[in-house]
Amino acid sequence: MINIFATDIEIMKQEAIQSYPRECCGLLLGKIYNFQKQIVKIVPTENDWENQKDLFAQLDDKLTRQCEDSFSINPLTILQIQKQARQDNLDIMGIYHSHPNHDAIPSAFDTKFAWSMYSYIIMSVKEGSVENVRSWILNESRQFVEEDLQIEV
Ligand SMILES: [Zn+2]
Repeated sequence: MINIFATDIEIMKQEAIQSYPRECCGLLLGKIYNFQKQIVKIVPTENDWENQKDLFAQLDDKLTRQCEDSFSINPLTILQIQKQARQDNLDIMGIYHSHPNHDAIPSAFDTKFAWSMYSYIIMSVKEGSVENVRSWILNESRQFVEEDLQIEV
């Protein structure tokens, strides 16, 4: 289970709408409280896909060519955010991104390059508005399974 504040969901949704028809992305910072993930801060990041897609193509050309669009967060950005998070006694708990004109279900590309332990919150954006928000996590077989997403008002 992952808990997130409604105000943070709203910020993510606004990012998704502003980025449309491109994907937005960002990091989810939080802590484990009572054996549950509690997201306390979200950090929108640049989508670095245009700069990184050649690198992904080297790793998996076929999958990368299938992507009309995707998202990628610059590793240096992740390190900088992680450093700041540690000072605030928080951890990176996951990543959010949007799926313009697609459902809130991980793509084959998402699955291939996902990090285990991270929660992946995906927003489906259709005709410029957010239709659905779902959270996913990899199981032991590296398949995504849906995670219960609790929105706290
Ligand atoms: Zn995706």
